[in-house]
Amino acid sequence: MTLDLVRTLRDVRGGLGTRLLAAALVAIIMPLALLADLVRHVRREALVAQVAALDSTRCPRGHRVELISAGWSCAACGSSAPGHGFLPCPACGAIAARAECPCGLSCPNPLFRGTR
Ligand SMILES: [Zn+2]
Ligand SMILES: [Zn+2]
Repeated sequence: MTLDLVRTLRDVRGGLGTRLLAAALVAIIMPLALLADLVRHVRREALVAQVAALDSTRCPRGHRVELISAGWSCAACGSSAPGHGFLPCPACGAIAARAECPCGLSCPNPLFRGTR
């Protein structure tokens, strides 16, 4: 949100008056944007800590799916290393969308936010 404000200010076209008005508006909004970004960051870190504490999850059929395993491989870069199925890949930082259960169903990763 903070970066969006800076980009908006950078892209403002018009005379000096228009640019000064835009700068004043951004200066008023910036503290709220910084606070919103901070809250979002703290929430995200809390969720990462919660997920990191999980050693397993359940598929929709109730089967236990281990998250800490030597068998995980990254779908993005192909790297395989012991680790946590829901945390970022240690090689490339990609986050898996889900963990697959042997029954065929999958468990969504709460840290996954889609492809960027
Ligand atoms: Zn990877
Ligand atoms: Zn299952």
